Amino acid sequence: MEEELNKKIEEYEYQIKLMSIFQDFLIDITKKLEIKELAENILKFLNESFKIENCSVIINRQRYLLGNLKDEKLIESENRIIKEVYKINIPYIVKNLKNDTILFDLKNTSEESLLVIPIINDNKIITYVNIYDKPENIHKKDVKLINYFLSKINYAILNSLEYTSVKDKSITDALTGLYNRNYFIEKLKNESMNFKKYLSLIMIDIDHFKNYNDKNGHQAGDYLLKELAVLLKNNFRTNDIIGRYGGEEFIIILPETDNETGMQVCERLRKSVENYNFKFKENQPNKLVTISIGLITTVSREIEIEDLIKEADTNLYKSKINGRNRATNSIIISKNLHLK
Ligand code: GH3
Ligand code: MG
Ligand code: MG
Repeated sequence: MEEELNKKIEEYEYQIKLMSIFQDFLIDITKKLEIKELAENILKFLNESFKIENCSVIINRQRYLLGNLKDEKLIESENRIIKEVYKINIPYIVKNLKNDTILFDLKNTSEESLLVIPIINDNKIITYVNIYDKPENIHKKDVKLINYFLSKINYAILNSLEYTSVKDKSITDALTGLYNRNYFIEKLKNESMNFKKYLSLIMIDIDHFKNYNDKNGHQAGDYLLKELAVLLKNNFRTNDIIGRYGGEEFIIILPETDNETGMQVCERLRKSVENYNFKFKENQPNKLVTISIGLITTVSREIEIEDLIKEADTNLYKSKINGRNRATNSIIISKNLHLK
């Protein structure tokens, strides 16, 4: 009798603790949060409340992770189960990843269970939460309870989606998806104050772009800008910062990059543009779409960002007058010492 009572009390205490963690979690996610922060909060909540150690959250096609879930077979398994959940709109459990019928051909080595929970708003799935665990644990962890908690956060997710979308629009260029000029300048200010050894800046301008527009139409011109933006994204590292500076001018910050490396990057990019099979390239001079580039590297932090941009632009201009389809560089050692 007493034992039973103690067990009940223990259970109540557990539930009160869960409710209190959930309440804190709710308060945290009702603040203005970007999607990434929201996803991290969801993962943290599942970990703290249900001791889940391997979990992913998918919002807006982005996958956020807790634990080690980068295996390609796991990702493919997850995608397949998500497709099922998309059809039925309710949680789905795979008891054993290794021998589930839907996943059989993938030959998963993991024997864990996978629970996929959709978070729904207005009959539409806005988030998938994918929980991995040993089969014996996933039963113990109350699936209903997790589902109940998660069903209460749909408004927080909507708010965060809205907040992120407004924020993204205010910092990106609508045509290319790159950072817009204002935001880029903010980033440059920040980088110019915080770099350790070097800061390189690249300015790019499409050669004879007016001709491209005149011969092929403005829409084709827009296509070229978009295509070039993709090429830029593919050519730079993730911590390089790429912006659209003006009409057909692009600007890139290469943090902690010396002039020689910067020049190698420029040359690689110049070649990849020259070799790219752009539509209507035959209508351009030399039958090629090309770019001219100006590179500036500073080792001095005394320099104003306006001067950095000006010098990158001067180098770009030199590339233009020397025949286009080339890169020109210089280095700022100190305010009064510039090396060509
Ligand atoms: P250069 O080799 O000297 O750079 O010659 P250019 O013809 O590229 O230079 P110019 O500055 O004369 O022409 C730039 C053109 O870019 C003129 C303008 O109509 C066009 N442009 C600017 N923004 C956009 C845009 O958003 N879309 C399109 N399609 N064209 C744009
Ligand atoms: Mg121009
Ligand atoms: Mg141009």
